[in-house]
Parts: sequence; C-alpha cells; structure tokens
Amino acid sequence: MQNLDAFRTLISTPKNIVITTHYKPDADALGSSLGLAGYLKKKGHKVTVITPSDYPKFIAWMPGNEEVINYEDYRTQKKTQQIIASCDIIFCLDFSVMDRIEAMAQYVLASKAIKVMIDHHTFPESFADFVYHDTHAAATAQLIFQLIVLLGDKDLLDEAIGECLYAGLMTDTGSFRHPCTTPEVHRIVADIMELGVNTNLVHRRVYDCTSFERLRFLGYILGQKMVVLPEYRVAYFVITAEEQKRFHSQTGDTEGIVNYGLQIDGIVMSVIIVERPDAVKMSFRSVEEFPVNRLASAHFNGGGHKNASGAKTVGLGLQGTIDKLLSILPSYKEELLAVPN
Ligand code: 5GP
Ligand code: MN
Repeated sequence: MQNLDAFRTLISTPKNIVITTHYKPDADALGSSLGLAGYLKKKGHKVTVITPSDYPKFIAWMPGNEEVINYEDYRTQKKTQQIIASCDIIFCLDFSVMDRIEAMAQYVLASKAIKVMIDHHTFPESFADFVYHDTHAAATAQLIFQLIVLLGDKDLLDEAIGECLYAGLMTDTGSFRHPCTTPEVHRIVADIMELGVNTNLVHRRVYDCTSFERLRFLGYILGQKMVVLPEYRVAYFVITAEEQKRFHSQTGDTEGIVNYGLQIDGIVMSVIIVERPDAVKMSFRSVEEFPVNRLASAHFNGGGHKNASGAKTVGLGLQGTIDKLLSILPSYKEELLAVPN
C-alpha cells in the first residue's frame, strides 16, 4: 500500500467499518472479509460484513459468519443501505471492478465513506482512496495477512482469523498447486498453522461436505455433458436451468466442475456455461500461458486471472453463448496448440 502511514493513522481510532466483497462470494472473498473483520474488531472498530448475495454452505462455517449481512435479504435491505451510507470506511475485498457487487455498487459509490480496495485481480478501477492491489498475490487472504504484518500487528493474528485466511489461500491456490503458490504462500501458511489452525479440518469442511445429490449431479455432468474438442485442446460443459432443477442444484453446486476439463491429458482450456435465471454464467480455466482473462474480456465482457476467469452474457441466451464460444475458437487455435504439453 502506497500511503501506509496515512492508512495506519486512519485505523488508529475506532471507526464504523463496512467490509464487502464480490457477488456470490467464494472462500477467498468471504475468508479475507471475515479475517480482516476479526482483526479490525480486535483493534476496537465496529465492523459489519455485507455480502452482495448469498454464498454456499461449504464456506458458511467461518468464525464471524453468523453476523454477515446478505444485501439481497429484502427484509433488511433498507437498513443495509443506511449502514453503507453512514459508515466511515468501506473495505472492498477480492474485487476491483464495481460491476462485481451488482446492485450494491450504487450505494457503495454514493457513500461518503473512505474506500479501501484490497485485491489481486487484473485491471482494477480507480474508485478507492487506499489501494493494496497485487496481481501476483495468490489470494486476497494473502494480502490481508501481509497488511496486518505491515501494520506491525502480527501478534493480533489468532486461530479464528487464521482459519478464515487459510480457507482463502487454500481455495485460490487450488490446494497449493496452481502456479501462484509461491514460497511466500507456504511461509504464510506455516505461520497460520502455528496459530493453531486445524488445516485438515478446514480442507474437509470446504471439500468434503458434498451432498449425495451434488455428487450424482457431478457424475451426470462428467458422464453426459462434457464435450471435448481435441483439435482445439478445449473441453466445455453446458448446464441448463432444467438440469439444475432436476438435480436440485444449490448455490455453489456448479463451482469447481470446470476444473475437471483440465484433468484430460492435453487440454489447455476448459469452459463451463451455466444457464442462470437472469444471465448465462461462464467460467474459464486454462494452463500455462494461455490467457483466459483476455479471451473472456475480448468476447464476453468478462475478466479475472490469466488461468481462471469468468463472464456473464445477457441477451445472447444459452445457445447464443455456446455458438459465440465455438465461433471464436478458430482464432485461438494457434495459441492453444502452441502450449507445451
Ligand atoms: P469463477 O469462474 O470462479 O466464477 O471466476 C474466476 C475468476 O474470474 C474470478 O476470480 C473472478 O475474478 C473472475 N470473474 C468471474 N466472473 C466474472 C465476471 O462476470 N466478470 C469479470 N470481470 N470477472 C469475473
Ligand atoms: Mn481471490
């Protein structure tokens, strides 16, 4: 962070703080938010974590989870808007494009609160007064850990904060196997383990709490819905609204499925296209130097990281989105085939 001293001064007296993160938070979004909340509370601040939407059960166990406000809860929405309008500081974690908080964006932008952006995604917008942004960070949770250390408050870290941050690091690194897993990540994890965090338990809570129904859904998708295009080294899946209904699919049930495409020998890019009530959601994953964020941004108004990106199409429909994806593949063929196996 460039103006760290000014930031230190800002949080040196008790403030009314809101922490928010992106729509449909994942473990890094929620874990960095609740980890930071735990720290700021220890510093004497009043902290409210507001998510723009709900999130899956497999991340809803983190310390502080019971106090999280879902902006989409219409029973409390007016009050939530007032909290955003009247707080002193708003932390924006794990996103740097206002689009990513959807309907909440106008209230965050209109609030007179000082904005602090902490994120690791590419192409950040400039809406914040304080920015701690590093695309080389494996997770926003890593930046939260580093910021607490930079502020000289490492001794305030505890098991509860560590659990939240570990969940973010574990998931955003694909359980410490993606290329973003640096020695620094492992050093941070070592420190987190020394706080007493049961990392095995965190892993099992996130990855081993699948319902029988979700596993059958996955079996169906892998068995019947995976399309492999060896000539492009691409695999893709399309999931319709009807299929989600048939398998009683819940929020988060389609998360991670896209990664299975990359398990096939030689595949460079995997894409999942999911029909949602209001839009079609796409997730892209790739290996090595093939930049799916560039593809997502050039053709689908999306973004993200080089090897993991996403987009939403509105108005194209499910078939239109599939057709568009298939139509652009020839122009990427050379790049896809050039990736070493
Ligand atoms: P996922 O496929 O897990 O939803 O998202 C992978 C990455 O792509 C996320 O880290 C996020 O930054 C980015 N991403 C996902 N959806 C969108 C989107 O609709 N727009 C943009 N700009 N980025 C997205
Ligand atoms: Mn993240």
